[in-house]
Amino acid sequence: MKIGVLALQGDFSLHAAHLKTAGAMPVMVKQPHELEGCHGLIIPGGESTTLVKLMKAIDLFDAIADFSRTKPIFGTCAGAILVAKEVLNHPVDPLGLINITVERNAYGRQIDSFSGEIDISITNEQKQIEAVFIRAPKIRNCGPDVRVLGEHQGDPVIVENDSVLAATFHPELTDETLVHRYFIEKVRKH
Ligand code: GLN
Repeated sequence: MKIGVLALQGDFSLHAAHLKTAGAMPVMVKQPHELEGCHGLIIPGGESTTLVKLMKAIDLFDAIADFSRTKPIFGTCAGAILVAKEVLNHPVDPLGLINITVERNAYGRQIDSFSGEIDISITNEQKQIEAVFIRAPKIRNCGPDVRVLGEHQGDPVIVENDSVLAATFHPELTDETLVHRYFIEKVRKH
């Protein structure tokens, strides 16, 4: 299975490494044609304003919107902002693929970045895993078709609908591959 990793900004190579460990073949996506043959796509963290500008400049914004009509997408941190339907606090123009409202930089500034335990319930496993939040957004509202898969101190931090997974933390920064394995499974079932 081939999973694209948007490789414009951020630590896309760590996502690629987790995908490999979890048994999928990562494909670095820097141009629209590189989406061809991918069965799913990860949009990594970074800076959402910059990501949207870069994506629009190389026609990847519309290409990813098209891709999302038939294939699953996983957005982490800035990627979660991009897949959201509504963005608060210096809003960017999102792709609007999952019915959530996110507030950018909701934990504060870069210096308020932290790592904490989250409760996660996926693939019938309930466990606590360490999660790294870097100038992360908060999910302020979830629509009725959105399932909450994990929480940090009562706030949803990983959510999904039938084809989109969104996490406000960075699952590529810890050794745990549970979240990437879950996305691969979601792509397989799609
Ligand atoms: N603060 C960034 C934004 O609002 C997201 C940070 C991240 O992806 N780690 O775009």
